[in-house]
Amino acid sequence: MFAEVLTIGDELLTGNTVDSNSAFIAKKLTERGYWVRRKTTVGDDVGEIKAVIREILGRKPEVLVISGGLGPTHDDVTMVAVAEALNRRLVLCDDCLEKIRAFYERLYREGYIDDPKLNEARRKMAYLPEGAEPLENREGAAPGAYIEHEGVKIFVLPGMPREMKAMLENEVLPRLGSRKFVQRKLLAEITDESKLAPILNETLKRFNVRIHSSPKGFGRYIGIILFGESEEEIERAKAFMEGKGIRFEEQ
Ligand code: ATP
Ligand code: MG
Repeated sequence: MFAEVLTIGDELLTGNTVDSNSAFIAKKLTERGYWVRRKTTVGDDVGEIKAVIREILGRKPEVLVISGGLGPTHDDVTMVAVAEALNRRLVLCDDCLEKIRAFYERLYREGYIDDPKLNEARRKMAYLPEGAEPLENREGAAPGAYIEHEGVKIFVLPGMPREMKAMLENEVLPRLGSRKFVQRKLLAEITDESKLAPILNETLKRFNVRIHSSPKGFGRYIGIILFGESEEEIERAKAFMEGKGIRFEEQ
């Protein structure tokens, strides 16, 4: 049940843009019960993107969410790279082209642009890897893509945070189904993480949970987040730690 996130863009590597997309995607996947095991960032380079996608697929995640580089400009090469990584051709999606045409016509009517015609750069966004299902972009021009490849669900989303978020909510999450998943935030009344460490290790061995811990409240507490697939399992893990002398408050 694990997932990976790949964000693409030179601006992310130079630090000019903070990669907020991967945090947003990871949060949503985590809430859905996925364990996000890796986030990777590469620049707008076909070779780099292709290599990293193959590397990720080799780890066989259940889900891979990719964001960035779907726009009309020369540096937007994500779909080409995805197609190459999967050994698929890029093919024209007629329905996507129609939506792109309508999108620019609307911008023209509303006075944002002075030419509504489908030029090469705009047409480019209608090409998706063969076999991909287009994902609707309610906030922009470029469609996303959903591809099932050797058991991995791959979602390709735009980089503009507004577009990415809308597509993630409306197109991606409904395709992931809902999974029972619980997280419980607690405050442990203990200030020394090193004393807590062996107890956490023991808990992880005995129960089917994941645990995040971090110091909180000016040395008074350690914040603990327990992740699990059932309330009961979390309760058992918590009781076990209490049995080892840890006192908890709800966070
Ligand atoms: P568009 O169709 O809008 O061109 P795109 O998929 O080509 O979309 P990018 O060119 O990658 O998107 O990025 C568009 C904008 O979104 C840029 O301003 C960029 O800084 C921002 N952006 C891209 N990726 C991220 C990210 N991971 N986190 C935050 N902002 C991002
Ligand atoms: Mg770009």
